[in-house]
Amino acid sequence: MLEDLDDITFEDLSKFRKKEEAPDFPLVRIVGQQQMKRALMLLASNPGIGNMLLVGEAGTGKGTAARGLKTLLPNLEVVKDCEYNCSPGDKDDMCLACTSKAKGKLEVTAGPTPLLELPIGASEKMIFGSFDHKGRFKPGIIGRANKGYLLVERANLLGSDMLLKLLDVSESGVHKYREGKKEYVHPSKFVIIGTMNPEDGELDDEVLGRFGMVIEVRSIKDIEERIEIVRNVETYRNDPKDFVEKSRRETLAFKERIANSRNLIKRADVPKKVQTAIDKVAKQVNQDNDWVKGTLQQAALANAAFDDRIWVTVDDVAEVADIVLGHRVEA
Ligand SMILES: [Zn+2]
Repeated sequence: MLEDLDDITFEDLSKFRKKEEAPDFPLVRIVGQQQMKRALMLLASNPGIGNMLLVGEAGTGKGTAARGLKTLLPNLEVVKDCEYNCSPGDKDDMCLACTSKAKGKLEVTAGPTPLLELPIGASEKMIFGSFDHKGRFKPGIIGRANKGYLLVERANLLGSDMLLKLLDVSESGVHKYREGKKEYVHPSKFVIIGTMNPEDGELDDEVLGRFGMVIEVRSIKDIEERIEIVRNVETYRNDPKDFVEKSRRETLAFKERIANSRNLIKRADVPKKVQTAIDKVAKQVNQDNDWVKGTLQQAALANAAFDDRIWVTVDDVAEVADIVLGHRVEA
C-alpha cells in the first residue's frame, strides 16, 4: 500500500469525479489540512470576509475541499426563474426582470447557494456574458454565481487582467457589461475561492493583495495521515454515493453550524478592545487601511460565530491574523 501513496492524489480524484459524475468528495472526510478546512468554513459562515486563495502544490486537495463546501452552504430564498438568484426581500439589489416584476407579486422558491466552477480555459463570453442575435443579454457564469461562490481553479493561469476584472466585479457586487454601444447591468455579488499551484507561475502582489484570505496548503507528510487519505480516496472511488452517504450526518452537523454562525454574525458586536487590537496588528505589518482592517474584523466575527459566540475576542483576531495578513507582509 505504501508504494501507492504518491500515485493517488486529490488531483487524480478530481479527474475521476468529472468522468463519473460522482457526488463531490465530502469536506469533512479530508484528512488533516485544519487551517484550510477552518478557513473555508469561516468563509461559508461569513461571505463578508471576501475572496480567498488556496495556494499549494497539485494533489493537496485544494479544489476538492472547495467543492466539498457546496453541501455545507445554506439554502437561499430566490425569485423563481431568475437567472441571477435575486432575493425577493432585497428590492434594491435586483436584476431588471425582477425589478419590473416586483411591482406585482414575485414567485419565490428556495435553492442551494450556488458554488459554481469556472472551467479552465473559459472564454470571456462564458465568464462575463454576451448579447445574443436578438440583442438580449445572456448572463455568464458571474451572473449565475450571484449570491454565491465562484471556484476558480489555477487562478494564476487566468492572467492578472482577467483576475483583476473578476475581483472588481466581486467587490462591487455589480457587473456592467458593454459591447459596442450596448450596455447591460446586473447584480453579481459572489465570493471567489481561487486555487493556485506556485509551479504554474507567481501572482502579482497587486492581485494577491486583493484576496481577503490566503491559505498555504502543504502536502501531508505524516505517514498515518497519508495512509488514511489513500484509504478514503479508494473507498470513495469504489462507491462514491455510499461514501458520501456515510458522511451525511457529519456533513449535516457542519451545515447546521454554518447556518447558526450566519445568524449569530447578524447579532454579533465587536468591542472597542478588539477594534484596538485590529488597529494594532494592521499597523504592525504596515497595513493600516480600512479595507484590510475590515477584512480582519469580518474574519474575527466568523471565527467567534463558528465557535457559537456573539462576543468577539482579541484571541479571535489572533487566530485569523495569519491568513488575513500573512500574504501582505513585505519580505
Ligand atoms: Zn432577478
